[in-house]
Amino acid sequence: MSTADNRPHDNTRMASAHTVIVGGGIAGLWLLNRLSSCGHDVLLLEKNALGNHQTLASQGIIHGGLKYALNGVLSPASSAIADMPARWRACLEGRGEIDLRDTRVLSEHYYMWSTGSVRSRLKTFLGSKALRGRIDTLDPADYPAFFSEGLRSRTDTPQGTLYRLSDFVLDTPSLLQNLARPWQDRVLQGVDIRISADQQKNNSAACVHVEGLHGPVNISAAHIILCAGEGNEALLADWQPSEPLNKPLMQRRPLHMVCVRVRHPAPAYLHCIGDSIGMTPRLTITSHPCHDGRNGEWIWYIGGELAESGVHLDGASQQARAKAELTTLFPWVNFTSAIWHSFMINRAEPRIADLQRPDNAFVSICANVMVCWPTKLSLCPNLGDRVVELLPDKFSGLRHAMQGSELASLLTTADHAYPPWEKIR
Ligand SMILES: Cc1cc2nc3c(=O)[nH]c(=O)nc-3n(C[C@H](O)[C@H](O)[C@H](O)COP(=O)(O)OP(=O)(O)OC[C@H]3O[C@@H](n4cnc5c(N)ncnc54)[C@H](O)[C@@H]3O)c2cc1C
Repeated sequence: MSTADNRPHDNTRMASAHTVIVGGGIAGLWLLNRLSSCGHDVLLLEKNALGNHQTLASQGIIHGGLKYALNGVLSPASSAIADMPARWRACLEGRGEIDLRDTRVLSEHYYMWSTGSVRSRLKTFLGSKALRGRIDTLDPADYPAFFSEGLRSRTDTPQGTLYRLSDFVLDTPSLLQNLARPWQDRVLQGVDIRISADQQKNNSAACVHVEGLHGPVNISAAHIILCAGEGNEALLADWQPSEPLNKPLMQRRPLHMVCVRVRHPAPAYLHCIGDSIGMTPRLTITSHPCHDGRNGEWIWYIGGELAESGVHLDGASQQARAKAELTTLFPWVNFTSAIWHSFMINRAEPRIADLQRPDNAFVSICANVMVCWPTKLSLCPNLGDRVVELLPDKFSGLRHAMQGSELASLLTTADHAYPPWEKIR
């Protein structure tokens, strides 16, 4: 533990490293892989467990921004991430910047279902030149298995139009395993991790302070990359360098997500487009395997407008709302013995006016600290490009007081967290 005047206690071990990433969600693990493969000497430090906050709570949709163009206008957000599905697919096939061949793909396609009056607006949107080639209108004969029972039913036939997007869905636990596995001795865990002014650099830069299981360690690093999601805010607030810096500000977008364990053989992966004028789909549904693998059971995980507008509701009211929506939209699915759960979570992003969505991955430099918010899982390739561009050199010539493997003997290898739906039994 550092003393008030920033001098470490006697038992604090001193170490140096070239690049330290703080935070082991998708951003930190993506950058660890991307920078290591470019020849950088990188260490990642996680405070809780890998994927602990947003990443394992995400729906795992790798999207090309189409849902942000629902009003028929190709916004900057939709242009910026249009390339992302192709970049990820290249990685999944082993020909991208990171080898993700061991990552499980839950669905090769994501769908968008427009029911009722919104159809005409959607047709206009589909006609727009900018979106050509990124979306297909499906004939009922080509509908995914999830719709089969509905199509067979005389009374419950799905109405409206179904579109297939270029988006797809990843199993986030397997993605994180894939990214962490090659770097076991570089992905370490501390009980508490903070950044503070580095005395070795006249307090003009930051160093990383880690409370490890075997005692405190101070790591002086050429570069520190903050990838702690919502935790970036506290890390930046703690750090008081000798010269005041223009530290980036963060915004939180709260969501009230719903999970339901349901017995239905075919998983659902689709945006349900409502009649509201907003750009957010009424429901955004993904399906995830149940941890105890009972036959035909999936966890449906539900975001979209339901999650955004439900932040002021208690769990029971939000779950009741979700149940009403799902039984109306999918009358062919039996929810009688389904188990419901919901929880609140914040998306952490750089602050912009009116809580607007950022268009791109965010990177900002303060002295030797880089602050990163990918803003979307999908934008990690974009985040990697920006950080690689900004990191000035590969090996700074620092003499490492302790190499990664020595640090590994003082700290422990980071654990993996569990996705929130694993709580449903
Ligand atoms: C409900 C939900 C659904 C989403 N769905 C999608 C989707 O389908 N597609 C998409 O593209 N994006 C989606 N997103 C956005 C996406 O999940 C996030 O943009 C992305 O996961 C952010 O990753 P991150 O690594 O920056 O942060 P996080 O995943 O939050 O990781 C931060 C890590 O830092 C650690 N940490 C915190 N403080 C410290 C500290 N002091 N020291 C060390 N470590 C620390 C945390 O324990 C955590 O492991 C979704 C987000 C949410 C909340």
